[in-house]
Amino acid sequence: DLTQTEKFADFDQEMFEMTLDLTKQICEEHVLGCYQEVDSEGGAQFDKGSVKIPHQYHGIHKIMNEAGLFTMGVSPESGGQGMPYTICMASYEYYSFHMGFMLYPEATAGAAHLIDAFGTDRQKKLYMEKMYAQEWGGTMCLTEADAGSDVGALKTKAVRQPDGTFKISGAKIFITSGENDLFKNMVHPVLARIEGDPVGTKGISIFIVPKYRVKEDGSLGELNDVHCTGIEHKMGLKGSATCSMSFGDNGDCIGELLGEERQGMKIMFQMMNEARLGMGLQGSSTASVSYLHALAYAKERVQGKNIKDMMNPDAQNVPIIQHPDVRRMLMYMKSHAEGLRALVYLCSLCLDKAHASSGDEVDKWSGIMDFLIPVCKSYGTDMGFKVTELGIQCFGGYGFCNDYPMHQFMRDMKIASLYEGTNGIQALDLVARKLGAKNGAVFMNYLAEMNKTFDAYKGDARLADMSKDVKEYIDLMAAMGMYFASCGKEGKFMIPITNAYPFLNMVGCISLAWLHLWMAGVAEEKLQAIYKAKGIDPTDKKAIIALPSEDKEVAFYQGKVFSAEYYIKNVLPTAKSYAEAIKKEDMSLMKINDASFACGENL
Ligand SMILES: Cc1cc2nc3c(=O)[nH]c(=O)nc-3n(C[C@H](O)[C@H](O)[C@H](O)COP(=O)(O)OP(=O)(O)OC[C@H]3O[C@@H](n4cnc5c(N)ncnc54)[C@H](O)[C@@H]3O)c2cc1C
Repeated sequence: DLTQTEKFADFDQEMFEMTLDLTKQICEEHVLGCYQEVDSEGGAQFDKGSVKIPHQYHGIHKIMNEAGLFTMGVSPESGGQGMPYTICMASYEYYSFHMGFMLYPEATAGAAHLIDAFGTDRQKKLYMEKMYAQEWGGTMCLTEADAGSDVGALKTKAVRQPDGTFKISGAKIFITSGENDLFKNMVHPVLARIEGDPVGTKGISIFIVPKYRVKEDGSLGELNDVHCTGIEHKMGLKGSATCSMSFGDNGDCIGELLGEERQGMKIMFQMMNEARLGMGLQGSSTASVSYLHALAYAKERVQGKNIKDMMNPDAQNVPIIQHPDVRRMLMYMKSHAEGLRALVYLCSLCLDKAHASSGDEVDKWSGIMDFLIPVCKSYGTDMGFKVTELGIQCFGGYGFCNDYPMHQFMRDMKIASLYEGTNGIQALDLVARKLGAKNGAVFMNYLAEMNKTFDAYKGDARLADMSKDVKEYIDLMAAMGMYFASCGKEGKFMIPITNAYPFLNMVGCISLAWLHLWMAGVAEEKLQAIYKAKGIDPTDKKAIIALPSEDKEVAFYQGKVFSAEYYIKNVLPTAKSYAEAIKKEDMSLMKINDASFACGENL
């Protein structure tokens, strides 16, 4: 229904499909092939202050940029296509498992977007345009050796100059794409504290710090005393250069303020929100690609007899997809990959709806999106990782070997639970900030949206049973929200804090079940129409279950319904165990003396 809004009225289904087809084609022709190659060749290389990125990335970047894939979501006023964010996410899903590459254009687009939202006209002209065009690259420079999760502890300093610029000095670590040979110039949004400003996050400002200074006519000037001192050697994500950056070693690094003084965290949060959604997408994309590889392998790999033929000495060995335990793994992977995808799309849809609506609706949709961002980031990446690990399991011993990319999916995926705020920090964000936002109104709005789906399907004979299950858990989520609120009132603050992570997982698990019900509802509607058109009696179970072998559309929609059924019946009940454990109010993890964690000689 986005195309019915004024903001997206210029688009239609056909344009969206063309975009997705183009993305898929580029992915298949150019991105998939080099995935393992880049990893086995060692990825990005550091040499005397310079970084060479994998040679394959130069070509992919050019092709994708020329196809306009990096500016799909950028507003037309800033030179982009202004597509809904939901379509951008669907498109990026094809690439997001290959984050080693995607971080170069994505960090750039994110930094450009910051300047777009908070920069002056001059800054937009000077920096943003070239960044959106992917001629110059961008980063986000928060982390320091002693300021990781606690960004407020940063020591990078900004000293005011008479001409209104600032001299920046400090060292940042773990900076993605900090130095590389892909872009002609780098533009670093750097968090720093202006001399004399308060300690903690309140005193942080954000500065635009280019690698090469930029003259007023837009041409490049001299180097800006920004140096890369090394890159990390990592278990995965090898194509991405993770750089240690030094600013102002020679006292000559000039930065200009972006936005207002001491608003650095607020401004950076815009980029962080987009980036966190991108991490959720990394989870769903990697889960999906891992699942598809496991599925293909399970259909090919012949091993053992079908359990029904166990006693038959003449029975042939069968593809492993016939074994119940392999089917269990595949269903777990399929239902999570689809559920996580739906969660990412839901967040994107909320963002689009917030952009396309007015009045209270803006608050409603942006509120729900804010609530879901930590869930999407944390649950999306943890479950994405879990799915890649199961992918290895489906391959048996070969999953552990270099012949297949399964181990690389898992290694590359792990980072997503760590960067952009660790998943533990996401959980704290959910319970400490998001759950009680606007006196709980945001949470209530989210529950109301979930209940609408139950109301829509509770009377449908095919979906009533699943609807009933999902409703029970929506109510459980509401009750747990109230329970945390009561803990706050009763002074039991440590209950929500120590249980933030299980609570987030409970919300994630229930959210996916709700989305599965929604998808099953859409799928059932499509199926009924197809059965009718084919003259098939919808109560003839035998005919219906045989149909997918000859009709891909039926196979797809039936797969959706079974995926929902599997998730709701087999995975959703774990949400109850989270809730039960939380309500036990056990404090053993706080009571245990540090010395009792282990009693070895050196501990
Ligand atoms: C490959 C890679 C790319 C990165 N890219 C960038 C980038 O482009 N820009 C950038 O600025 N940074 C980047 N980072 C840094 C990343 O965001 C940090 O590593 C992350 O925020 C965690 O900080 P830390 O490593 O110092 O861990 P720590 O903060 O030391 O955390 C260690 C553990 O303690 C937990 N913990 C810490 N404090 C708390 C608390 N108050 N409550 C509960 N738990 C807590 C954490 O959850 C974690 O489990 C990158 C990191 C990597 C590895």
